[in-house]
This record gives sequence, C-alpha cells and structure tokens, in this order.
Amino acid sequence: MDTKSYIQETENQLVHVYNRFPIVLERGEGVYLYDANDKKYLDFGSGIGVMGLGYGNKEYTDALTDQLHKLIHTSNLYYSDVIDSAAKGLKKASGMDRVFFTNSGTEAIEGALKAAKKYAYLRDGNNSDHEIIAMNHSFHGRTMGALSVTGTEHYRTPFEKLIPGIRFADYNDIDSVRSQVTDKTCAIILETLQGEGGIYPAEPEFIAGLKQLQQEKDILLIFDEVQCGMGRTGSMFCFQQYDIQPDIITAAKAIGCGVPVGAFLMTERVADASLEPGDHGSTYGGNPLACRAVDEVLKIYEKEDICGHVKALTPYLEEKLDGLAGKYSAIKERRGRGFMQGLELDPSVPVGDVIHQAQEKGLLLLSAGSNVLRLLPPLVIEKEHIDEMAGILDEIFAKYEKA
Ligand SMILES: *Cc1c(COP(=O)(O)O)cnc(C)c1O
Repeated sequence: MDTKSYIQETENQLVHVYNRFPIVLERGEGVYLYDANDKKYLDFGSGIGVMGLGYGNKEYTDALTDQLHKLIHTSNLYYSDVIDSAAKGLKKASGMDRVFFTNSGTEAIEGALKAAKKYAYLRDGNNSDHEIIAMNHSFHGRTMGALSVTGTEHYRTPFEKLIPGIRFADYNDIDSVRSQVTDKTCAIILETLQGEGGIYPAEPEFIAGLKQLQQEKDILLIFDEVQCGMGRTGSMFCFQQYDIQPDIITAAKAIGCGVPVGAFLMTERVADASLEPGDHGSTYGGNPLACRAVDEVLKIYEKEDICGHVKALTPYLEEKLDGLAGKYSAIKERRGRGFMQGLELDPSVPVGDVIHQAQEKGLLLLSAGSNVLRLLPPLVIEKEHIDEMAGILDEIFAKYEKA
C-alpha cells in the first residue's frame, strides 16, 4: 500500500485526536529513523523526549528480550525480582525515598496529587478541603486530575467541572504564587522546566521563593520531571541543579526509554504520612517488563555517563542554536537547559511550516506553545548530529530571510 492510502486507511480506524505528520515510520537505528520508503530522518524529537538512549541499544534490547522470555506481568499482588532493583535505581538517581510505578506521565501526576491531598487530609484532622496551586502554561497530562492542573484553558474547558480547589499562578513569578496561597493551600505543582508551554526554565529565585513557602507553611512541592528529568538537562533530574528538596516528583517519558512506564516518588516524611494500603493502585503499574526497562536504562545511564555526556555537549548545542538565533531575525530567542531547547520564532514564521520543511530535509523536530521550535534529541547524539541539525535549520531559515 502506498503511504497516502495507508494513512487514509489508518485514519478510518482511529478516534481523530491527533493531527499526525504524513510519515510512516518503520524502524530506528541510533539517532535515526527510517520511513516505509527507507527515507532517513535525524531524530530531534525522541518520540517526545522518550528515547533517551536512541534506537536499538543492544544492552537494552537484550535485557528486555530476556525479560520477555522470563516474566512480563504478575500484578502488584506479588513481588518479582526486578521491582526492587528498579526502585533502588530510581531512588539513587533522584535522592527521593519511596517510589510508586505508573504506566504513564499523567498517571504519575494523578498519584502525586492524591499523595499531597492525603497528606494534608491526615495532617488537618481528616479534613479534605484543600487547594493546590498550579502554573499558567503548564502541561501535566490528559487525565482528569492532571488536566485540572494544566494551565492551558482550552484544554480544560470542554471537560469541566474538573477537580475543585485549583488556583493558577504565573511561572517564575513568586508574587503571583504568593497571591494564590490561602490557609487551604496544600501543594504547589510545577514543571521544573516548562516543556509544552514553550520551554521556560525555572529561575533560581523562583525556586528559592517556593522553598520558603514549603518551609513556612508546610505546602508540599510537587516537581513534574516527566519531560525534563532523566538526564535531559544534564543532571538525572532537573531540580538537582537548584537548592531545593521537592516533597514529591513525577517521572515518565525517558525512564523506560520506550517501554511505557512512569513513577512518582516521595520523601520518607510524606510517604509515612500519606498514602496507605487501599489508597492507590494499578494493575500494570511497575510490572516486571516495565521495571526491567527502568532498571536497565538506569544501568546504561550510569555506565555510559549519559548525564556527563549531555553536560559536556550542551555548550556546543547552545552555541550552534545561538548562532542561528543571532543570524536570523526569524528566531527571537533561544531558551532551555541541556538537551531540552526551544527556539522562539517570530510570529510571521509559522512553526508548523519549519517543522514540515525540516521533515522534507530529513530532520524531525517538535513544537511547544504556539511559536516555539522544540528540540528534544536522544541524549546519545554527538557533535556531528548537532552539525547536521544546525545545517538543515540554517538552510530553512535562510529562505525566510530572503522572502
Ligand atoms: C508528557 C508530559 C506529561 C504527561 O505524560 P503522558 O505519559 O503523556 O501521560 C506530564 N507532564 C509533563 C511535564 C509532560 O511533558
């Protein structure tokens, strides 16, 4: 079947919630993807930040193959030999104390919200009348709880009423957050680096202000590290680059490097005074296959010093992107940390057009917000891949300059 008929056929089967690009991908190798016509694409999207190790890592594939043969699933009624190892690895990587494995990022958010609510419920004498502060332009997922704290109104409106008691504040504006604090505030949830909203890193002063609220008022800090965690910004988790100890963090995307798995993690203090048996659960969550993926990913990260690699190559990536931003008026600003970078485009240059042109030239990119070109390459890219990406963007932006 040719690509066009295949796409039409597929669309006839699915609920139409995605506007997919007209590309049928078939296989991946390293940091490249190949479509059904064997056209090669340099991947600067990583399946939306998931494929941290790129495609076809041998140790990872061997470990999962071994696990497929041994045991895929048991339910959480039993123990299995890989849960402990995956949890220990994640604890070591994050410095947090207790782990709950989920199947996705949005489920990690659900669990984090429940843990925060339960903590406040027990602390305040079985009173559940609490509020949570979330950020404008945030993204936390598509399920009802995560949607409730997602700061893009048009995502929420059709599905109201959502969970009550959510107040929105401006990111990087501590006065705005303070103005939303009441006696009922039990938690503040934020992305350590806003992703979907347009690639906005948190300013250290903002985090310091949140720390003050955490200490003064026992307001729990929930840091959503689903996108910016797992080495993407040059440390295992992005919050580790600030002077802060979050009470709860969420992770997903790259923690399984392709196998659907997420997690929320807590400090011991919160774990001992929040969720109890019966409060939360998941049939699949942290099954042996998912845990083996997490375990192996963490082993490979350590062995190959993935964070060190990201840190070492970041100045080169930033230099190349800054070079483009300086050269072309189509690019207003570069923002980001590590391998989570955004180029804010001039409103006259539609980000979708740039993405399409890049695809024609064999480069896959993402967008964020309405006018930000988002780059989330696999964490194993080398200088030559950065050069290849920058060369393609240079050709594309040169055309806008002449027009
Ligand atoms: C992607 C994302 C989520 C949701 O993860 P899913 O696995 O799609 O449910 C939550 N928070 C952030 C910051 C994300 O980038």
